[in-house]
Amino acid sequence: MDLKLSDPSLLKTSAYIDGQWISSDKTLDVIDPHSGRCIAQVAKMGAEQTQQAIEAAEAAFELWRAKTAKERSKLLRDWFNLIMQHEEDLAQILTAEQGKVLVEARGEIAYGANYIEWFAEEAKRVYGDTIPEPSADKRIVCIKQPVGVVACITPWNFPSAMLTRKIAPALAAGCTVVCKPASETPLSALVLAELAERAGIPAGVINIVVGSSSEIGPVLTDSPTVRKLTFTGSTEVGKKLVAACAKTLKKTSMELGGNAPFIVFADANLPSAIEGLLASKYRNSGQTCVCTNRVLIHQSVYDEFTQLLIKAIKERLVLGPGKDSKVTNGPLINTKARDSVAALVNESVKQGATIALGGDTDNLGDCFYPLTVLTDVTNEMPVACEEVFGPVASLLSFSTEEEAIQIANDTNVGLAAYFYTRDIGRVWRVGEALEYGIIGINEGIISNEMAPFGGVKESGSGREGSKYGMDDYLEIKYMCMGGIDQ
Ligand code: NAP
Repeated sequence: MDLKLSDPSLLKTSAYIDGQWISSDKTLDVIDPHSGRCIAQVAKMGAEQTQQAIEAAEAAFELWRAKTAKERSKLLRDWFNLIMQHEEDLAQILTAEQGKVLVEARGEIAYGANYIEWFAEEAKRVYGDTIPEPSADKRIVCIKQPVGVVACITPWNFPSAMLTRKIAPALAAGCTVVCKPASETPLSALVLAELAERAGIPAGVINIVVGSSSEIGPVLTDSPTVRKLTFTGSTEVGKKLVAACAKTLKKTSMELGGNAPFIVFADANLPSAIEGLLASKYRNSGQTCVCTNRVLIHQSVYDEFTQLLIKAIKERLVLGPGKDSKVTNGPLINTKARDSVAALVNESVKQGATIALGGDTDNLGDCFYPLTVLTDVTNEMPVACEEVFGPVASLLSFSTEEEAIQIANDTNVGLAAYFYTRDIGRVWRVGEALEYGIIGINEGIISNEMAPFGGVKESGSGREGSKYGMDDYLEIKYMCMGGIDQ
């Protein structure tokens, strides 16, 4: 292990259940995607420990919900402060297990912590309602209450922020949680639990189990005690989880895959669109759910934009190990991911796409895929139909606004979309016509804790962050008071 942390005790390799660190004979290797070396072995939990975690969360729920909103807010705020105090160590851990460059890892720690700060504030603003009565002898009051024990299942691409985005609103609302982080990136989850413990968040409120999804998943989905499942991950797994949750009619929030179009209209500010595209396409080496997947360029600026993009990539982006400060793009998470990107590119090339930059020629390491630009792409090719999840920009062309909207919407998912134009009428027309949950207009970076994040169609349901983000963790209770005029 070559991780050098200011506080080595932040590196936890046990599960966290009911305030206890639980070890096991069975372990799971955590691999550095750059070197391919095992950086830690984490205790693997199974069905029995997951059930224990659910029971711990159930027991803690009554005490946690009984705290005042201000008390919960203070504990969340203390947790946020500790995360920011240890930001550098958390970023080092994240880069080691996930591969993203350190500057992005630091950004993720701060971005994820911002959700805790935000929901610490929102905890105090869970307001109810009084509603005009239907008859003189009645009054209608609505209160909001926590849903109960929440299961959180998260992916490897943002192993810290995807978890805080769920735990923070859940705890602010008064819920307790059982979390299953992705097997590739458990360390970023466990360090959050360590800091929550140091912040004084009581035992059982946050529980983290690491292990096989086929053992842990069914315990979470089938348990009648778990009243809500919040999931971030692939659409394929999301559908299975929704089906499994139907048995107990749990509430679900699904943050699933995308196929983001990035539309460059003829009147766009091209240098600004290039900036937006570099950020939205190549961040985390293309492994974000809101990453641009298809670049739709008006035919009149297609060649010029393509050349500007290739020049910008060559001059500004550097592929390599995430901990190297000169590097802007790290490896993909594992060789399976790399092979999947290569297969999508190769099949699209067979169908007529042209490699204008990159392609399958890199030799930095097993998990690296080169920064790639494909031209002559059509919406039927695999790189356009499927979520590539790699550093490949696929360039399509269009001739009219209607055609751009039609191509953009011609997909079964709808998470993020981007477009660049200087025409205010077009801003409204296109913004309203795109079937997506998040729209970046002349902007490539759209996610922050103050705005609602989530998709439509098969990109899922529910919203994370913003004033709406708490709703998914609350039930509305309507109380009708009668006999008022007696
Ligand atoms: P994934 O394969 O769906 O895995 C996500 C999580 O689900 C992991 O913790 C995984 O555990 C677990 N899991 C897998 N199969 C399961 C099952 N049958 N039952 C219970 N849990 C199960 O997704 P991924 O490859 O890690 O992440 C990439 C996907 O996430 C992309 O599609 C991306 O677009 C999406 N994503 C969406 C958002 C959003 O906010 N909309 C944000 C980030 C990522 P194991 O690791 O143990 O298999």
